[in-house]
Amino acid sequence: MAKPYPYFVSLNDAKEICFGTKIKLKSELINLDNALNRIISQDVIAIVNDPPFDNSSMDGFAVIFDDTKLAPVTLDIIGTSNAGSGDNLQLTSGKCVRIMTGAPIPLGADSIIPVEMCQIDNQKVTLNEISKPHFIRKKGENFNAGDVLFHSGERLTPEKISLCAAAGVNELLVYCKLNIAVISTGDELKKPGSMLDFGEIYESNSYGISALIQSIGYNSNRFPLVIDDINELRKTLDEAAQSNDLIITSGGVSMGERDFVRILMEKEGEINFWRVKIRPGSPPIFGLWKQTPIFGLPGNPVSSHVVFRILVAPFLANLTNTKSSNERIIYATLANDIKTVEGFTTFRRVELIDDENTIFARLKGHQGSGNIAGIAMSDGLTILGPNSKGKKGETCKILLL
Ligand code: AMP
Ligand code: MG
Repeated sequence: MAKPYPYFVSLNDAKEICFGTKIKLKSELINLDNALNRIISQDVIAIVNDPPFDNSSMDGFAVIFDDTKLAPVTLDIIGTSNAGSGDNLQLTSGKCVRIMTGAPIPLGADSIIPVEMCQIDNQKVTLNEISKPHFIRKKGENFNAGDVLFHSGERLTPEKISLCAAAGVNELLVYCKLNIAVISTGDELKKPGSMLDFGEIYESNSYGISALIQSIGYNSNRFPLVIDDINELRKTLDEAAQSNDLIITSGGVSMGERDFVRILMEKEGEINFWRVKIRPGSPPIFGLWKQTPIFGLPGNPVSSHVVFRILVAPFLANLTNTKSSNERIIYATLANDIKTVEGFTTFRRVELIDDENTIFARLKGHQGSGNIAGIAMSDGLTILGPNSKGKKGETCKILLL
């Protein structure tokens, strides 16, 4: 019987469907100390020029280029320009000013000779070479006051945080952190640190998924484990929906009669799709639980990580118009044949080998979707599209882990 919702969709269709669900984000003002990984909600505009004044990129002497053309030449030292010095010395022909890196260029100087090219004798200096105009860093050569440094939606990296500071920006408007509930389900699961009885395993997905959420700058609220019981699950989802913007569950979304996340969503939730043509990780479900968006990730540990990276992270990035959801992709040459399935996107775990001019991607570890050790020791995931053959020697996109 046909399902009353999209069933077993392509990865692209899955993305398109979930991108249709929006979560409204508020903004808040933060200072640079708390900016890492936050997403700006307003373009960032430079307050000053960078550099704000012409300055030296070398320790040496500020000189007039024409004076040094016949080097070696000897010039009189008339003073010093230190970094931070407010003095603006005036230079005339035959004279020079001792200058430090970052110090303002004296008036009349047009070039620098590094100190290692000079012999100093009291108030005189002999230059062994012609001076260099390019050792002057020109006012505004990096950016100017009023320039848009980066646009709303960009994620703040350490480099961008320094750029804000250099531009005189100390406070930023960023999107408030979403609160994301993480709920693991399964009778066999035990919290790490407790004793295992026969048939039990340690619950691992919620820890990794929480870390993934934190790595993209949002708050994860890890709930206590939920046993395979529809009433317990309903209670937990209701609680999660009340105080979170998004719910992520793991386990219980397959075809089994005890896959209660899927069963409860079918009975009482709203399903936007179930199952995606990806390997591993085909069972995910997406929809709404009492108006709150919910991703039901598969229980198999590798699958839960893969589905977060390829579906949940892009969903979150789409909300803020963020181009890179922390995902970095490179191209590598396949070092093995990789099993693909026609119509599916295949994410195999690979290590990257830098062999002179070529980066090879080689299968790493056992590829079972239950093998968290395999993904933990890998460098990346192949992104082999629905028509890829996955042949050795083929160029393949790799999603870096
Ligand atoms: P399920 O999707 O519930 O059928 O679970 C599929 C497989 O993943 C089973 O072998 C489960 O024991 C395992 N599994 C489910 N949830 C977790 C979890 N949170 N941590 C580790 N393994 C899990
Ligand atoms: Mg289960």
